[in-house]
Amino acid sequence: MSRRKFIAGNWKMHMGPGRADTLAQDLRRELLDLQAVDLAVAPPFISIPEVVARLRHTGIHVAAQNLHWEPRGAFTGEITAEMLRDSGCTYVIIGHSERRRLFGETDPDVNRKLHAALRAGLLPIVCIGESLEQRESGKATEVVTTQLETDLAGITDDHLPLVTIAYEPIWAIGTGRTASPPQAQEIHAAIRSWLRQHYSSGLAAAVRILYGGSVNHANAGNLLRRPDIDGALVGGASLKASSFAAIARAAGSGLPNH
Ligand code: PEP
Repeated sequence: MSRRKFIAGNWKMHMGPGRADTLAQDLRRELLDLQAVDLAVAPPFISIPEVVARLRHTGIHVAAQNLHWEPRGAFTGEITAEMLRDSGCTYVIIGHSERRRLFGETDPDVNRKLHAALRAGLLPIVCIGESLEQRESGKATEVVTTQLETDLAGITDDHLPLVTIAYEPIWAIGTGRTASPPQAQEIHAAIRSWLRQHYSSGLAAAVRILYGGSVNHANAGNLLRRPDIDGALVGGASLKASSFAAIARAAGSGLPNH
């Protein structure tokens, strides 16, 4: 099973409409010739229309950073999956560790959001990962597989291929500290093995597992060469077109994973 590499940029709470438009224009220019890799960027909600318009027909998809699971109602400040779809989003990030840590999002919330995304035709990117304390006590694999148990509950064989998983060790996000390629590969392999135990091996082999945590142009190549690392979810380095493009090109220069 060959998996196309996928590089997604998470702009977090940066880039209002004006700056987002400029960054999207720069990305358009930098990435026009890169066809071998799937690409997405996740602007803040308010900048989605500008970025969708600017990236139309480029093959660079737009993702949202969050959604609410309800289809409508009195949920001040929230946004539905269908609204995101109507605004031109293809993907949505779910369960980012900042949402879990700072906004109290739980695994059952992630599961509800995942089902809502799929119902609306959005492609979810589900984030999982352990804290430094959990890693140091030897629990990294247990933590991510426990997250998967709840996060993916009720996901059928039909829906699994639409799901991307992002392994993002919390201690590596925005810290400049990256998991080494063997450390990341070990957890990616454990995630795929969990998928094989719960679905067929064919389906498990089809799911893309991204690594996230201080990925930059210098470390991307070595991470992306590992057999179970199918791409990257990039925070800080996605805020400059040249650095995001360099990561995307590093992904494009390797062969797809088997
Ligand atoms: C992220 O926000 O998902 C992320 C991995 O951030 P950074 O690349 O800045 O560590």
